[in-house]
Amino acid sequence: SFEQSQLLQSLPRQFFASLVKKVKKAVDDGHDIINFGQGNPDSPTPKHIVDRLKIASELPINHKYPPFRGHDYLKEAVSTFYKREYDVDIDPKTEVAVLFGGKGGLVEIPPCLLNPGDTVLVPDPGYPDYWSGVALARAEMHMMPLKEEHSFLPQYDNIPEEILQKAKLMFLNYPNNPTGAIADLNFFNETIQLAQTHDLCIVHDFAYGAIGFDGHKPISFLQTPGAKDVGIEIYTMSKSYNMAGWRIGFAIGNPSVIEAINLIQDHLYVSIFGAIQEAAAEALLGPQECIDSLVETYQSRRDLLISGLHEIGWNVTAPKGSFFAWLKVPEGFTSETFSDFLLEEIGVIVAPGIGFGEYGGQYVRVGLLTSEERIKEAISRIRKLGIFLT
Ligand code: PLP
Repeated sequence: SFEQSQLLQSLPRQFFASLVKKVKKAVDDGHDIINFGQGNPDSPTPKHIVDRLKIASELPINHKYPPFRGHDYLKEAVSTFYKREYDVDIDPKTEVAVLFGGKGGLVEIPPCLLNPGDTVLVPDPGYPDYWSGVALARAEMHMMPLKEEHSFLPQYDNIPEEILQKAKLMFLNYPNNPTGAIADLNFFNETIQLAQTHDLCIVHDFAYGAIGFDGHKPISFLQTPGAKDVGIEIYTMSKSYNMAGWRIGFAIGNPSVIEAINLIQDHLYVSIFGAIQEAAAEALLGPQECIDSLVETYQSRRDLLISGLHEIGWNVTAPKGSFFAWLKVPEGFTSETFSDFLLEEIGVIVAPGIGFGEYGGQYVRVGLLTSEERIKEAISRIRKLGIFLT
């Protein structure tokens, strides 16, 4: 067998692969498992989107190579969507890149913009794909802790001046995976000021843009004046339209970053199957009731989980967006020992917070991706454990 390159070996290990193995083993052993561990939406893609794919897949035009950088109608649909939803003007020709899911863009951006040894500001806890792109670019990470007492927003005043001098890129993500926190306009204003002062490029990951609770509609980074001068936003169809398997998303914003992403993609791929591009445009421009019902589903699951946990004496904070709850583990446990404990004692799977970074080490993430019946069942199993979170 052949040796792996140093570059490949330098990539962070995929922490959640071990979680998937544990789940498989527990299921194979015949346990009745309730899986809150993963982030895969459990509902199907809305029918009108699937129907559009079916029709589009019959069209010979879609059997040919699509344009390298994606169809114009799709980028125009993204522009219309941003105007309609956020009142933001986007030039479809220069300010939109079509991605193979949000993941594609997040991993591609660091090698597009960084040289070896450059510094990147990364939220901790955070989505692990940020680390992968940084490793591919052979750049360095400086972690920005997201703490509960600061509503899980990074405190820019705490970043050492010499790091800010060196930093070239910053990842942010609101609504946040894993903490369920949201950002407001003030925070984004502060971010833009920091970016302008230090010549930083901001990548705002808006994967959960559609999912806000208690009537709150998450704000787009691009709504903040000056945002396009300093960065981009990643929008994905995966969570908003239950299209995780379709692998399509967008980078939107600063034209020089969009051009860099397009350039690297020119070398790596020809764009996505045309029928998927048509279906994605249909999702963005067609009926939007599917989003209302998706948000309602997650809202009732969130309410059920949080009120159920409160009833049994667990003092947990309700997430404001995304589809995750972020729970502090009881005294004496780490995120890993508590996850193992829940799996072994009551067959409930949660994601250990350490998988999202060092600051996640005292938390577990609970995904709201299972039915209300199963959430109730999980709470009744937890009640029997007789342990408390305060
Ligand atoms: N960003 C965050 C914070 C996520 O949680 C996910 C998926 O779980 C993604 C990006 C990537 O989504 P996709 O590649 O399916 O668009």
